[in-house]
Amino acid sequence: LETTEVGTLQIVSVPCLDDNFAYLMRDGTSGNVALIDAPESAAVEAALHALDWTLTHIFITHHHGDHIDGVEGLRARRTLDVVGSSVDAHRLPVLTRAVMPGESFAWGEIEVRVIDTPGHTVGHIVYHLPEAGVLFSGDTLFAMGCGRLFEGTAQQMWGGLSALMDLPDETVVFFGHEYTASNADFALTVDPQNEALHRRVHDVIDVLESGGRTTPTTLGLERATNPFLRAVSPDVARHLGLPDADPEIVFAEVRRRKDNA
Ligand code: ZN
Ligand code: FE
Repeated sequence: LETTEVGTLQIVSVPCLDDNFAYLMRDGTSGNVALIDAPESAAVEAALHALDWTLTHIFITHHHGDHIDGVEGLRARRTLDVVGSSVDAHRLPVLTRAVMPGESFAWGEIEVRVIDTPGHTVGHIVYHLPEAGVLFSGDTLFAMGCGRLFEGTAQQMWGGLSALMDLPDETVVFFGHEYTASNADFALTVDPQNEALHRRVHDVIDVLESGGRTTPTTLGLERATNPFLRAVSPDVARHLGLPDADPEIVFAEVRRRKDNA
């Protein structure tokens, strides 16, 4: 089990289904254990058993089946607090806490901020723990990628990504899918002069070839190499034939190209 320690938190990535990541997060102070997204119950139960952790909470990022289908099976075996967006409560498993985008809630003694990131779905939210500097980005931000626009507009997605770009570079980002290899190939077509991107692509190829995982990433690394966040870069705008265009327009063009790649 691959564990990241951040302050009093231990965070374990749990590969699920074909390419999903769920995350188990334990707070050493309260003993609370949260699961961030529930693609399936079996892999999560196996990880809980191996860790000897008692699950207490589930935080849901959005309504897609590969993020919620495990909730009922997990809930059948224990009492859980299930947190999700009030905007999408009608199409999420029954929530014990419906949160408003923009609000904060207490998880034990830890503050969790709910950031509104519509685009992939209209009710997509991400969970930010500001003291620890941890972000669970669901299907909004991936390593060198971002979610497809199934429900929202490029403008909405760019708004959410812009809010994430306000977070500190050191923020550790736990994302929802291992799409990194194909994201890297695409990133090089959009941002071929970016030395940091080339270095990173070499690094992730090494990680993946040795059977490793590319999660987590950091916001600083994404800012430097993610072609969608690089919509703010004049180099990327010029390369796409959009010099002087607004970042939002450049972002929409990067998203369009990835959809057709
Ligand atoms: Zn999704
Ligand atoms: Fe997904």
